[in-house]
Formats: sequence, structure tokens, C-alpha cells
Amino acid sequence: MNKSTQALIIVDVQNDFGPGGALPVPSGDEIVPVLNQYIRYAAGRHWLIVASRDWHPEKTHHFREFGGQWPRHCVHDTPGACFHPQLALPAETVIVSKGMNPDLDSCSAFHGMDERRTSLQDILVRAGVKIVYVGGLAAEYCVRATVLDAVERGFAVKLLVDAIRGVNRKPADAEAAQREMLRYGAQATTVTELSASR
Ligand SMILES: [Zn+2]
Repeated sequence: MNKSTQALIIVDVQNDFGPGGALPVPSGDEIVPVLNQYIRYAAGRHWLIVASRDWHPEKTHHFREFGGQWPRHCVHDTPGACFHPQLALPAETVIVSKGMNPDLDSCSAFHGMDERRTSLQDILVRAGVKIVYVGGLAAEYCVRATVLDAVERGFAVKLLVDAIRGVNRKPADAEAAQREMLRYGAQATTVTELSASR
């Protein structure tokens, strides 16, 4: 199997962030079929595929009821914390969990680790990854944090602008976050552009 220097990172496409979830991202489910196209593309080229997930304890300072800013969401091992049922993650997907520490507000996938407690950073470095393609939910929170961290850590970052959606607590929050990510050094791409490129 050819080793690729590229990885697809899918951020927090979980039931609680979909319509009807505890912390819904409007139209968050619209990105699922697009992400599935990226997954097929990546799997066909032996890219590393990573899916991050919020995986909170019952009690965490992240939640409003314990002093945080968010309603209760993505409590580990609950249906709300499961990936969207239509997201076609291959068996070899590396699952990175974050938000387990009740005292930390972990948003970036780079705060996450796999089941062997290997950090995302180490997973990528060990796999020889240089370029990361990032999409998912929500654009102005966990996608933004993940993208900025990836740029800071020296990865070339492609932002999947057709596979992100924002909460938009204030209108255009997601748009502003997208501009910020691009200014910071991420490059925009779409699945159409990617498929045409080779
Ligand atoms: Zn959370």
C-alpha cells in the first residue's frame, strides 16, 4: 500500500450537532454527502482518514449547568455522541476523541487522542502526513480551532469550504471564521476542484 502524505480530518459530524440534536448546526447534515465524496476520494488514494468527536463526561465545566457556555451535548457513549448515521467512515478510520477532561474546553481535534491515547499530532507525524484536508462542524468553533492549530503546527491545510457549516449565533460568524482561516494560511478547496486536479 502506498503511503500518502495527505490526511482527511472530519471534525465532529455527530448527531448532537445535526438537526434535532442538543446543539444543532443549521443544515449541518447537508455536508454529509459531500464528506462521503471526500472519503471515497481519500480512501481510493490511501490517505489517512481521521474523524474527531466531542466525547464529554456527564459533568464538565464545558456545559452550562456546570458553569460553561454550552448546553449538554455529546456525552460519551450516548446516541447524541455517535457519528451521523449516513457518514460513511471506512473501518480503518482513526477516531480521535476530545473533551474528556472536565476542566478543559477542548475544541480543536489536536486536543484529541485515539483509543491508545496517541495525540492527533503524533498520529499525523507517525503516518508521514504533511497536508491535511479539514471539514466538518462547526465552522467557527471546532473546525476553526483545528485548522488554526494545524497551520501553527506546520501542516499545509486545505479547508473543505463545501463541507463545513456554522452555528452563526451572530449572522455571518461562519463566514468571518472562514476568512480568518484562509488569512491564517489555509487554502480553500472543494470536492469538484479536488476531483478535477488529478
Ligand atoms: Zn463540546
